[in-house]
Amino acid sequence: MAVPRNRSSNARKNSRRAHHAKKPTTVGKCSNCGGSRLPHKLCMHCGHYSGRAVINAKAE
Ligand SMILES: [Zn+2]
Repeated sequence: MAVPRNRSSNARKNSRRAHHAKKPTTVGKCSNCGGSRLPHKLCMHCGHYSGRAVINAKAE
């Protein structure tokens, strides 16, 4: 395993970690009911995915 030869400064450490911030979650819109939906997941409101019903979502 490689061993670091020199200590990295606080500025170098912090600028390296400037890219570590978490991105906000992408939220899509359901084409059937218009509710919020995660990409590549079925809609939890109406149970549709890609224009067809995958599960029977209960109407409450
Ligand atoms: Zn939906």
